[in-house]
Amino acid sequence: TDLSKIRNFSIIAHIDHGKSTLADRLIQRTGGLTEREMSAQVLDNMDIERERGITIKAQTVRLEWKGHVLNLMDTPGHVDFAYEVSRSLAACEGALLVVDAAQGVEAQTLANVYQSIEHDHEIVPVINKIDLPAAEPERVKEEIEEVIGLDASNAVLASAKSGIGIDEVLDAIIERIPAPGGDADAPLKAMLVDSWYDPYLGVVILVRVMAGTLKKGQQIKFMQAGTTHLVDRVGCFRPKIEQLTELGVGEIGFITAQIKEVAQTAVGDTITDAKKPADAPLPGFQEVQPVVFCGLFPVDANDFDKLRESIHKLRLNDASFSFEMETSAALGFGFRCGFLGLLHLEIIQERLSREYDLDLITTAPSVVYEIELTHGNGQLELHNPADMPDPNTIEEISEPWIQAVIYVPDEYLGSILKLCQDRRGIQKNLTYVGGRAQVTYELPLNEVVFDFYDRLKSISRGYASFDYEQIGYRAGDLVKMSILVNGEPVDALSMIVHRSVAESRGRHMCERLKDLIPRHLFKIPIQAAIGGKVIARETIAALRKDVTAKCYGGDITRKRKLLEKQKEGKKRMREYGSVQIPQEAFIAALRMG
Ligand code: GDP
Ligand code: MG
Repeated sequence: TDLSKIRNFSIIAHIDHGKSTLADRLIQRTGGLTEREMSAQVLDNMDIERERGITIKAQTVRLEWKGHVLNLMDTPGHVDFAYEVSRSLAACEGALLVVDAAQGVEAQTLANVYQSIEHDHEIVPVINKIDLPAAEPERVKEEIEEVIGLDASNAVLASAKSGIGIDEVLDAIIERIPAPGGDADAPLKAMLVDSWYDPYLGVVILVRVMAGTLKKGQQIKFMQAGTTHLVDRVGCFRPKIEQLTELGVGEIGFITAQIKEVAQTAVGDTITDAKKPADAPLPGFQEVQPVVFCGLFPVDANDFDKLRESIHKLRLNDASFSFEMETSAALGFGFRCGFLGLLHLEIIQERLSREYDLDLITTAPSVVYEIELTHGNGQLELHNPADMPDPNTIEEISEPWIQAVIYVPDEYLGSILKLCQDRRGIQKNLTYVGGRAQVTYELPLNEVVFDFYDRLKSISRGYASFDYEQIGYRAGDLVKMSILVNGEPVDALSMIVHRSVAESRGRHMCERLKDLIPRHLFKIPIQAAIGGKVIARETIAALRKDVTAKCYGGDITRKRKLLEKQKEGKKRMREYGSVQIPQEAFIAALRMG
């Protein structure tokens, strides 16, 4: 193909601003699909993605318009997948910036636009939903110029829903986004942009050819992974699969190479010719590292094998999620899993329960702590509070910090500031953008992983938006807080907390457990402790004998029912210092954060 006739672009948009709808329209207008085939949104192909309105896996579609080949790269729409986004952007020369004409610029949009600008993209602003009565395209243009610093005078006004401005968008892509460059005669260099498991094709790899040509039948080498494979299919999506014989320089498409697991295909890896390899891989490769960890346990211990199988299957398609077996005295056998972020955690959890029909208990999410041991005994990474070493052997503990940018309407600003303050936040900046406050805070990630996002949304009635990036590790006065029931520590409930909030968290947990653990024939102390020191305590009063007598006396069928119920309940009880704790109590204690 003639390089000057190729355009590679992505679409940047805040959730709900119309990215998928616009993509569908572009596909339809260029003849990829008929009206009837359009009935379901093409680019969001997983149920969860559709329901949450986010894109998890990047997809790409090849369009044809006025003698040009346009490759539309769909990018994941969430901060948890920032690295994947960066690779998708690196595969393009430009982007459409879709902004809702009634909502204006949002924090999420900003992060992606800045990334796009860093990749030297030509950005074409598209003001979408101009059909809405509340649309204010002129105000939104100003906002784009003021907030992002982009010239919005020639923004395309569109309504993806009503089909207004679609030709103009396609023309703008050809006229304003530059053609790709690259040396067709150099050794092959293709970037691995994304990969997924397909039951028929095996692992499908999305690539952008940066130099040389990628051919069917070619022996290729993954430069980071060091593995070689034989290319058995080359093609593109229109959005239906079309097989090709090769992908030339500047082109985007897919290959298959008889690969069984996506774990073998690292996003950002460089694919080269095994016989005539390139000198150096493409820049920007990063190994993905999970940042949030939690335990996943089956509610019913008999489901453990099913959980193991399901987790293995999920991993086939998601290399960024990690797991290893874990045993907990409270919860039995399960897995310690690592995720890119909270949303990623929720997605996996939801898929396990929905697609694999598993009832799960999730332990409190935890970040990765770095521990420096005393006497030069080295460093270790702590993924599980239960593995915390003896405090006397610890020189220093560090925790990951993030920089968060929050957009919020003025009336909710006060409560948002208080929330950030309560979470040990350090305010860095506060400005106003188009009638909304933009607050920048540095926050410890461990204060965010719990329920920060939910709190933010509930405090602001859904109006606040939030975006973050990691800014490295900082030392902190962090301690392990244990929960003891009748003198025995309950591993599933221990957590790492900052000393300044330990007492209030401890009291909170004790109060909650007091209501969740049923009374016994003896008094049960519930304590929160740091090391040997108790920082909070509640007591569950003893049951009086005559109460049980009364309860079980009388009606024989009622009595039998009660006994059966008890037996049923017994299976799900765990014993701590001769206290029976029902499984539901753990679940409730953990769910409430
Ligand atoms: P995404 O999250 O950016 O992919 O957004 P979607 O394409 O899923 O759109 C979000 C919602 O906005 C859906 O309910 C769409 O039907 C609606 N929508 C998208 N484009 C338009 C438009 O031009 N006008 C109106 N009125 N609604 C639109
Ligand atoms: Mg979408």
